[in-house]
Amino acid sequence: MVEKLSKNFFLYLSKNKILNKGAKRWGLKLGAAQVVAGVTVDSVIKVVKVLNKKGLVCTVDHLGEFVLNRDEAKQSMKVCIETLEAMSATGVNCNLSLKLTQLGLDIDRQLCIDHMKAILDAAKKTNNFVRIDMEDYSHYHQTLEILAELRQTYDNVGTVLQAYLHSGKKDLESLRGVPLRLVKGAYKESPKVAYQNKEKIDENYLEMIKQHLLTGSHTAIATHDHRIIEKVKRFCKKWNIPKSQFEFQMLYGFRTELQEQIAKEGYTMRVYVPFGHDWYGYFMRRLAERPQNVSFALKGLFSK
Ligand code: FAD
Repeated sequence: MVEKLSKNFFLYLSKNKILNKGAKRWGLKLGAAQVVAGVTVDSVIKVVKVLNKKGLVCTVDHLGEFVLNRDEAKQSMKVCIETLEAMSATGVNCNLSLKLTQLGLDIDRQLCIDHMKAILDAAKKTNNFVRIDMEDYSHYHQTLEILAELRQTYDNVGTVLQAYLHSGKKDLESLRGVPLRLVKGAYKESPKVAYQNKEKIDENYLEMIKQHLLTGSHTAIATHDHRIIEKVKRFCKKWNIPKSQFEFQMLYGFRTELQEQIAKEGYTMRVYVPFGHDWYGYFMRRLAERPQNVSFALKGLFSK
């Protein structure tokens, strides 16, 4: 009960526009620095280098979402390209994750597509891959439609499916061969479209992972749930699914020992490393996921 209230509270805060705006000016506060790798491209590349040395590969996310201003959307596109160039120049093992609302999806669909094309061209030049994060349900269908449009020209782009959605398994069928990250789902959604029960979400999640793996498609299993990870490892061994066809993913700052252990076992372990001024919504969703994460915020209150 308390867990549910706290989850709803932080998910509500994550959408608060005034706090979000203020947070961009505060700098990394409330302990966010433990899970966000600074605010500049240089700072995130430094972190990626350290993680690479530990045998972890990365995906970097320039934080930003729900942008309603053309200049801001264009600036986000530029930072994404700058980040891809910095990855190539420094030779780090890392790709890019981004959100379509950061690139102007809520302003003008075509503007967003043009920004995506510029980013994918830059990624192609440096032989890199771009993952479109999945946002809340109000952007779900547009994201899948834009992905389909982009994949007519680009093969270096994929997206994310959320297992809490009722339509998850059905939508997965039409994404055969597309590199997908599979997650449980991070937003507050209506019971009309999403399962609310944790056991049901876990069950659907595992079924979706197996379904995508069995089609031979590249699958990123993004979870901190050790039970799911162990089940996936056993499943892949049983069905002789090569380690090159899947990878595990976790967020920067979470379960770091487990991340390193998985990499040592010879699996690809990719760390999602966010950076940038727009850390507020991301951080609030992390607090919503796990009441224990609130300790980050409490520790942050008392440091500096
Ligand atoms: P949970 O269901 O939160 O936890 C299951 C169990 O795992 C817990 O009961 C506990 O035993 C253990 N556990 C979990 N966390 C910890 C911890 N920190 N320490 C110790 N034990 C722990 N969501 C989206 O909607 N769209 C996206 O594009 C998206 N991208 C993501 C990318 C990555 C790399 C990751 C890791 C997550 C992403 N998410 C995304 C978030 C995702 O949907 C979940 O909200 C989030 O991962 C929490 O669910 P979980 O699977 O990690 O495990």
